Amino acid sequence: MKTISTVFRCLFASLLCLIFSITLAQKTVNKGLPPQDCGTPTPSREAVEAAEKAIFQLKQGLVNKGLPSLVTLPIKAHIIRQSNGTGGLSEATLNAAIATMNTIYQPTNLQFYLCSGVHYVDNDNLYNCDVDVDNSLLVLNNVNDAVNIYFAGTLTAGNTGLNGIASFPSGNAAANRILLYNGVVGNGQTLAHEMGHYWNLYHTHETAVGTELVTRSAGANCGTAGDLVCDTPADPCCYFYNPFNCTYNGTVVDVSGATYTPLVTNLMSYYGDCRTQFTTGQQNRIGDGYTYRLSLMQTSGSYVFNCPTTAIAAPSNVVASNATCIVNVTWTDNSANEKGFIIERSSNATTGFVAVGAVAANVVSFADISPLTGTTAYYRVVAANSSATPSTVTSITVPNGLCYCVPGFTDCSAGDAIINFALSAGSGTLINRASGCGTSGYSDNTQTTSATLIPGQTYTVTLTNQNQYPEGFTVWIDLNQDKTFAPNEIVFRSATHVQQTIQSGSFTLSGTALPGQTRLRVRQSDDRAEVPSSSCNSYPYGETEDYTIVIPGLQTAVSSITSGNWNSPATWTGNQVPSAGVDVTINPMHTVTINGITAVARKVKINGKISYLNNGKLQVGQ
Ligand SMILES: [Zn+2]
Repeated sequence: MKTISTVFRCLFASLLCLIFSITLAQKTVNKGLPPQDCGTPTPSREAVEAAEKAIFQLKQGLVNKGLPSLVTLPIKAHIIRQSNGTGGLSEATLNAAIATMNTIYQPTNLQFYLCSGVHYVDNDNLYNCDVDVDNSLLVLNNVNDAVNIYFAGTLTAGNTGLNGIASFPSGNAAANRILLYNGVVGNGQTLAHEMGHYWNLYHTHETAVGTELVTRSAGANCGTAGDLVCDTPADPCCYFYNPFNCTYNGTVVDVSGATYTPLVTNLMSYYGDCRTQFTTGQQNRIGDGYTYRLSLMQTSGSYVFNCPTTAIAAPSNVVASNATCIVNVTWTDNSANEKGFIIERSSNATTGFVAVGAVAANVVSFADISPLTGTTAYYRVVAANSSATPSTVTSITVPNGLCYCVPGFTDCSAGDAIINFALSAGSGTLINRASGCGTSGYSDNTQTTSATLIPGQTYTVTLTNQNQYPEGFTVWIDLNQDKTFAPNEIVFRSATHVQQTIQSGSFTLSGTALPGQTRLRVRQSDDRAEVPSSSCNSYPYGETEDYTIVIPGLQTAVSSITSGNWNSPATWTGNQVPSAGVDVTINPMHTVTINGITAVARKVKINGKISYLNNGKLQVGQ
């Protein structure tokens, strides 16, 4: 029977793997986690009450304000691969996930490091892990001196695909483990979510000890129901929200008739990719959970957190340099046994270092594409498996106003790239650039592609996308050349997201544009985010491209080169529509039509003819 059931399971697992692959290609796995994304079991009322009582006694009634000082905790990473040693999570992805988790957990004073190398488990059965069948086999790999985290090719409970599973605090060494599906390790959420359970956080929609009421006034039960945390709003879970702009749009009411207003950005909710944060109450509860788990560990004596950091020669010669708003950090790798490096940054030379990124072993450079500006930033580098030996600290100050911001990471690898951007005036093409997905969703073309634009002239921007998703786009020109794209420097913005290959719009360049060299930025985002309003932030999917724009100094005298409308650039030398302070000559044989506008100029010499239509007027001496 075992053979048959294993065959069935493997068949199913293969099919599931195929399904996962397809959905990954369609980027729906990371775009919206299903409500059953977490397999951590609902705690029993008895367990919750016992835990609360124990924590109360441990705290002796004191209000916990989180852990008072930094605690670094060892993680034992078990990367499950296929039996032939292929298919496992990369150590670079693992390092990046730990760096992101460290950033999220920094306010709790808990930080994590990889303990004594990665443990590889090469086993086809476990690679496609059905927790109902495989957990007991898997946890035979547990170590008893660290937090065990398993990374599996697929993760299921019977027929249900899962993203992660954790265990609440317990003295049972077999339950000292977190399981993660590889496909979500890089999403910045699921590892932090499961680690939250590990330190006794419940889902914001938990009902094991009662349904939380919306009110925080008379009759509030937030301390005894729901997730037992009062600064997380009551959460009805999980369907009524707009994943595009991360707003709740449900109308569900609680038993008192009060409308729910859950926090869809809460990491312990089920609101898909919107999840980014713990509340202060949850951060403090993590501190309680740490204290509680330690007491259970000590009582049981079954496991501890003393896996030593690996002795690693610290990186040296750390140097930070600024290149157009990217801080490049380089260092010398002095060891052969590091499991990648984590790059940390602080605005203080000695404290407050937070991970800003991670790289694989033997890599000796990192680009911080969202550096601090206008203040001194301090960088150091630490091996991912040796928190005890950071490098020395280096510093750099990136001034404000000297460089354009580099947009935060935006994914254009799955069908959201700008594959052509064009800028034209009338029938003349000024920019027409084809490209693929830029690194981290950004392409700086300012050194290679430029166009000259004339104030007062109308231009058309045309953007070609991959026609896979509804996209919207926004174009900025830094009119005052202050190195920022202000809201009033948006020259075009789509009304909404539409799914079509080519979109275009037009704008008339403002007469306030300063002459000289400046920058045009075009950003596209898909319908999971807004039509871009920010020139710098991260969007889940889309791309950003920059181009150079040259605005010539205005002429103080123009003349007609053909008959035409006064306000048509094509009528005038230099494509410059006359404006106040400009001397105008209308050449012989030319008829210039002032149609429904009041034309202004300093003076006008008429050798040809002016035609007035629709109350058109001319004011000179301006
Ligand atoms: Zn969960």
